[in-house]
Amino acid sequence: MTNSVLHTELQQSIKCPVCFQEPMRKHTSWHIGGPADLLLKPRNEQDLRQALIYAQHHGLPVTVIGNGTNLLVADQGIRGMVIKIGLGLANIEVRGRLIHAGAGASLPFLARKAMQAGLAGFEFLAGIPGTVGGALIMNAGANDCAVGKLVRRVTACDFAGNSLTFVADELTFSYRYSCLAQRNIIVTGVVLEGKPDRVEEIKQRMKLYLARRKQTQPLEYPNAGSVFKNPPGDSAGRLIEQAGCKEMRVGSIQVSPRHANFFVNLGGGTAGDVLEIVQRVQHMVEKKCGVKLVLEVQKLGEF
Ligand SMILES: Cc1cc2nc3c(=O)[nH]c(=O)nc-3n(C[C@H](O)[C@H](O)[C@H](O)COP(=O)(O)OP(=O)(O)OC[C@H]3O[C@@H](n4cnc5c(N)ncnc54)[C@H](O)[C@@H]3O)c2cc1C
Repeated sequence: MTNSVLHTELQQSIKCPVCFQEPMRKHTSWHIGGPADLLLKPRNEQDLRQALIYAQHHGLPVTVIGNGTNLLVADQGIRGMVIKIGLGLANIEVRGRLIHAGAGASLPFLARKAMQAGLAGFEFLAGIPGTVGGALIMNAGANDCAVGKLVRRVTACDFAGNSLTFVADELTFSYRYSCLAQRNIIVTGVVLEGKPDRVEEIKQRMKLYLARRKQTQPLEYPNAGSVFKNPPGDSAGRLIEQAGCKEMRVGSIQVSPRHANFFVNLGGGTAGDVLEIVQRVQHMVEKKCGVKLVLEVQKLGEF
């Protein structure tokens, strides 16, 4: 089917705007990634289901992203349909100790809403630039907290558009692991539980966490947060530094002088550069420290 026929047919079946050959670098915090054949931003759950049904009908592979803050997208891009879960599913509602959040809600916004409602436990999310859906898949965490611990219920749909619900007992989370990642589903929303606390105290903790990040992370350059998972009982940044990789550079990608587990894009970096520097760092850390570092960032697309 030609692009223009596909374009017309798609716009007739799906009401939300569709971008063709969309550069994924516009949708990743690393500013890296080649074109997606199609990229859609559903305005609501109905758009999402229509898109999934369309993709299934036409045999298009579907890739889901949130805010693209933990992604390495291939220079060759992504074939098929990319669905970006964002503002269309970003509603947040506080009901007592429970917060109902759409998968597209931003984590800093969720943290602020919880603080305003006098609910503690969400402070660590204030400096994590992803969405609720991405955080549930990654079990995002910091400061000895992780999102999985707050979860009471998750709503999702499968790739045929069928609704699913999971209660906390059915879910397992551990360090940067969520069983949801194995289930081939799209998270649409979550119910999280906080602990009542004084607004001023919650605010102070949030401020402290944010200030620490500003001091220790190279936020002035495009990056994807921690590139590697911390090995048990150690820190990937410490090992990378010990192996002498700090400030190593491949093309425009540099191991940050400020935080060795952050690889910054100095401008025009490619996924190829990232892969090469990742391999070099893994090799040196294994040789000098005897530890094989495992990627935390998720590779998407045609590598
Ligand atoms: C400056 C900076 C600081 C960071 N600090 C931290 C930190 O302290 N702790 C931490 O854990 N992470 C951190 N991260 C990484 C990242 O922000 C988190 O992993 C975040 O939860 C990813 O959310 P996202 O919406 O950007 O997901 P994306 O990067 O878009 O996607 C991540 C994964 O989730 C999947 N996905 C996304 N949304 C959905 C959905 N609705 N349904 C199904 N699958 C979905 C994607 O397919 C992909 O596999 C940091 C990143 C940056 C850039």
